[in-house]
Amino acid sequence: MNNFNFYNPTRIAFGEGKVAELDQLVPHDAKVLVLFGGESARRTGTLDEVTSALGNRQVTEFGGIEPNPSFETLMKAVAQVREQGIDFLLAVGGGSVIDGTKFVAAAAVFEGDEWDILLQGGNNIERALPFGSVLTLPATGSEMNKGAVVTRRSLKAKLPFHSDFVFPQFSVLDPTKTYTLPLRQVGNGVVDAFVHVVEQYLTYPAQAPVQDRFAEGLLLTLVEIGEQALAEPENYEVRASLMWTATLALNGLIGSGVPQDWATHMLGHELTALHNLDHAQTLAIVLPSMLRERKAAKLDKLVQYGERVWNIREGSAEERAEAAIAKTQAFFELLGVKTRLGDYDLGENHIEPLIQSLENHGMVALGEHGDVTPDVCRRVLQASL
Ligand code: NAP
Ligand code: FE
Repeated sequence: MNNFNFYNPTRIAFGEGKVAELDQLVPHDAKVLVLFGGESARRTGTLDEVTSALGNRQVTEFGGIEPNPSFETLMKAVAQVREQGIDFLLAVGGGSVIDGTKFVAAAAVFEGDEWDILLQGGNNIERALPFGSVLTLPATGSEMNKGAVVTRRSLKAKLPFHSDFVFPQFSVLDPTKTYTLPLRQVGNGVVDAFVHVVEQYLTYPAQAPVQDRFAEGLLLTLVEIGEQALAEPENYEVRASLMWTATLALNGLIGSGVPQDWATHMLGHELTALHNLDHAQTLAIVLPSMLRERKAAKLDKLVQYGERVWNIREGSAEERAEAAIAKTQAFFELLGVKTRLGDYDLGENHIEPLIQSLENHGMVALGEHGDVTPDVCRRVLQASL
């Protein structure tokens, strides 16, 4: 096990009816801005429930945060926060709204050019407004972590930032709030959570058996419930398992003391920035080829993954590793998330601009060994055609 610091201050209120606890979770004298996405929060009634739980606090709204939240839109929320003297933010939505709220929380009190927050990956954040979230889409783990990803449309740049100052103070996780999700987003959520675990687990052996077992438990759970989450939208126990699994997949716990990869996410961000694919669609395209390309370096862990998650026990190490990757790819397809560039009408001619963009963003030494270069990424994309 490697040395680590583990810190996670986010309080979780989990279960049906927990939105009512906003009354205890949000300070009584707060001037609250409720941030949400398109119309889903209003249409499903969640927004009304939130507003009524906030009682007679001063509340204003900011809607219209798009999937893969844009710097341009978020800066409008920053202006509203500053104009209205808002001192507490409440995100109601999925990862995009929560990520966007993290940016607004930091940018509203940032001195200097707010885009620098992204350019410096959040290292320059010294404070942020307090905020909480009501999660409506289990996927990203943003509800209990300190990371966010923001897209600047004008630059076609999708960049992450991290800071201890942008942990949510609390997150309300009511599985019934996920019943209205389109199936595409449910499939996306399972894939995103799955790949979050893989990026922290499928590296090289790190003498951290408890972390391996945590990770394998989360992966096995996703394999067990993935199809059911699609087939039975109102199965409370299934949606509850999915919600908590997705949170645990990226709240810092399983990544402590082990090497982390994240090459698939970084290359995936370029696909979204240039072609507007859903986040999870990009991961489903990149991960299988990324694992194949790096099979030798990851061999021991791929064999362990194959055996413990997919029950693959026959063949040479190489064959077992390949079978494990094939199972992973088939699982994504089963969830309705396509795994080829061609499925999104992207071809050979789209590869070079993606690699250029990756280089422009300084993503030239990715992965747990820092050896995933643009050349490696080019081969990964070619293998994903
Ligand atoms: P999302 O972009 O937040 O939401 C996708 C769609 O789902 C939206 O159109 C939204 O509609 C709809 N939706 C959400 N909840 C719904 C509900 N209960 N009923 C019906 N529709 C609902 O999706 P996401 O996958 O959660 O977030 C993706 C973003 O998170 C990406 O930008 C990704 O890069 C980022 N991400 C962040 C982290 C992190 O650690 N912070 C990790 C991975 C990914 P409305 O707009 O109408 O609400
Ligand atoms: Fe992700």
